[in-house]
Amino acid sequence: MSFTPNLSHIHEDDDEIRRILSASGTELPPLLPALAYALGDLTLLVEDLWLDPAKSLEEQGGWTLEQQELCREIALEGIRRLRAGESRHSDFTDKDLHTIMSWACGTTLDGAYLEMLREELSPENRDLRAPNWSRKDFSTNRDFTVAIIGAGMSGILAAYRLKQAGIDFVIFEKNSGIGGTWLENTYPGCRVDVSNHVYCYSFMQKHDWPHFHSTQEVLLQYFNECADHFNIRDNIRFSTEVSSAVWEEASGQWALELESEDGEEVFHCNSIISAVGQLNRPAYPKIAGRELFQGPSWHSARWNHEEKLEDKNIAVIGTGCSAIQFIPRVAEQASSTTIFQRTPNWLMPRPQYQQELPENLLWCFDHIPFYNNWFRLHLFWRSHEGLLPRLEIDPGWDGSEDNSISASNHELGFMLRLYLESEFSDTPELLEKVIPDYTMGAKRFVIDDGLWATTLKRPDVDLCTDQIAEITEEGIVTENGNLHKVDAIIYGTGFKASEFLTPMKIVGRQGLDLHEQWDGIAQAYLGIVSPNFPNLFFMYGPNTNIVINGSIIYFSECEAHYITRYIRYLLEHDIAALDVKKEVHDEYNVRLDEGNAQMAWGASSVNSWYKNADGKITQNWPFSLLEYWEQTREINPNDYIELQ
Ligand code: NAP
Repeated sequence: MSFTPNLSHIHEDDDEIRRILSASGTELPPLLPALAYALGDLTLLVEDLWLDPAKSLEEQGGWTLEQQELCREIALEGIRRLRAGESRHSDFTDKDLHTIMSWACGTTLDGAYLEMLREELSPENRDLRAPNWSRKDFSTNRDFTVAIIGAGMSGILAAYRLKQAGIDFVIFEKNSGIGGTWLENTYPGCRVDVSNHVYCYSFMQKHDWPHFHSTQEVLLQYFNECADHFNIRDNIRFSTEVSSAVWEEASGQWALELESEDGEEVFHCNSIISAVGQLNRPAYPKIAGRELFQGPSWHSARWNHEEKLEDKNIAVIGTGCSAIQFIPRVAEQASSTTIFQRTPNWLMPRPQYQQELPENLLWCFDHIPFYNNWFRLHLFWRSHEGLLPRLEIDPGWDGSEDNSISASNHELGFMLRLYLESEFSDTPELLEKVIPDYTMGAKRFVIDDGLWATTLKRPDVDLCTDQIAEITEEGIVTENGNLHKVDAIIYGTGFKASEFLTPMKIVGRQGLDLHEQWDGIAQAYLGIVSPNFPNLFFMYGPNTNIVINGSIIYFSECEAHYITRYIRYLLEHDIAALDVKKEVHDEYNVRLDEGNAQMAWGASSVNSWYKNADGKITQNWPFSLLEYWEQTREINPNDYIELQ
């Protein structure tokens, strides 16, 4: 893997380039912005190819065949010029870059949106989100050390940002390696369900991802390589779990209790960044008799690689994103696979889901400067901000027929229903079981390339939609009294997502316990800070999850930015700590709740991990990505009480 594209010289003749541009898989819309940027020539961006945001979900940006051909002709000419050694002239301006970005998004970009997208694009892989300050800029003599909990995607990002700013930090990681979710989830078929060119740090983009959606092994390697590139491995204390954190009023410090092979220890620091994620504590279903089962059983996130599946009858409980990835692999090996489905999923078709990047697309990455950055921006445009409105309630819409919440929600639901109907057209009994009857977008979509239908149609696979009554020594009994005798049970039953920061005990000002303060309803201001817990930050905290519009890495980058701005404020003003005002926090959460109530997941009563035990949405961010970026740009000192 490499982070800096090592561009190859273009040797191919015109015919070969034409073939590459015409081959399926070459993503045409980002080609012209990449070439215009490489050559500094805005004339390549012709009016006739201005993208229509309404067609963002369509192939090749919804261009007609004639438009696609026009793009190829212009691209060929641009590639010829690159081949001849032409490059961008020195009087290329920021304004020119912005013009190219606007063209690439089919929208005239300005203000904050332009700045946010520019960071996402990260032209020439520049790290535009790096702190533009350093601890040395401030005269305070105060010691300032941060403890980061977790060395997954968010934790190593936070560490790097602190390192860039010259702040001391230590990472405590309960596992023996880096990677968090990508270390723990080793189930067969595990891969990222967001496009990989977006699911990576904006400033560590790779041009040589092997797949559109990389496998767990590749992502684990990516995060390890990032950690090495950040040079933070020596700051990590592996196999060390933080069991509690107590705010010591007198010293204005946090005391962390650590547990490791060496025993227990107390570590003092000025600030804590919890980067433990939302999806890391397996949830086992509360089904009577679960402990009676005599065969082996395990959870998707604790895969039992010792247990061979051949010649076994396997039961799988759950059909969420994890289960749908591993069930096809299980079915290939087991004698029989019985899948217990409680709620079917809306499948989002993506034919290239498991495909390797085709040669022609790789050629573009290897020969056109920073094509991958423009490819990322294009994906962002296609799948991000434009999709969110489809999950917003239109109060004037009558969706009684299909539980849709707006015309565009109905339209997308209709398309997804058609997809299911085409996949299961030859098996009406299965179709009936897999068609959801709840609002499209109320639960996480499951990405599919046809493998789900192929798997369910196997003669040795049974999709059981009878509800589970109990588990016995021999297997699973459904409510109609049928016993499904099995040799092993695999739980694809998700995570304790709403039990943020468990099982840690966190005690803040005046001895307040964070879990008691939350009382089952995790809340935070910006998803990052909670009143009474000074200098304690959450990454991927309450209400920072997204459903349809993007990659969680975007949120982590915004959070890391906000946290470093907060620490900068402390150092600049020589303040020990800040505590967010309760009224600021509460007002924010009222707005958030109102926002969530207007979304598909807030409107529907269907089960989902977006809700806590009482059905309150504690996970999701209901607004645009831009809004989160804007709100996390800078800390507002008026939001906080200063503690000396
Ligand atoms: P999940 O979405 O919470 O799915 C849990 C499944 O277990 C659901 O089908 C649920 O049914 C079922 N279930 C739970 N309790 C049950 C019970 N008592 N009886 C019967 N069925 C029961 O968990 P997940 O699949 O692990 O995915 C969680 C999230 O992780 C995803 O939404 C995604 O954000 C992330 N993820 C990402 C990737 C990726 O990018 N590679 C892969 C996997 C997961 P109901 O639907 O009826 O509740």
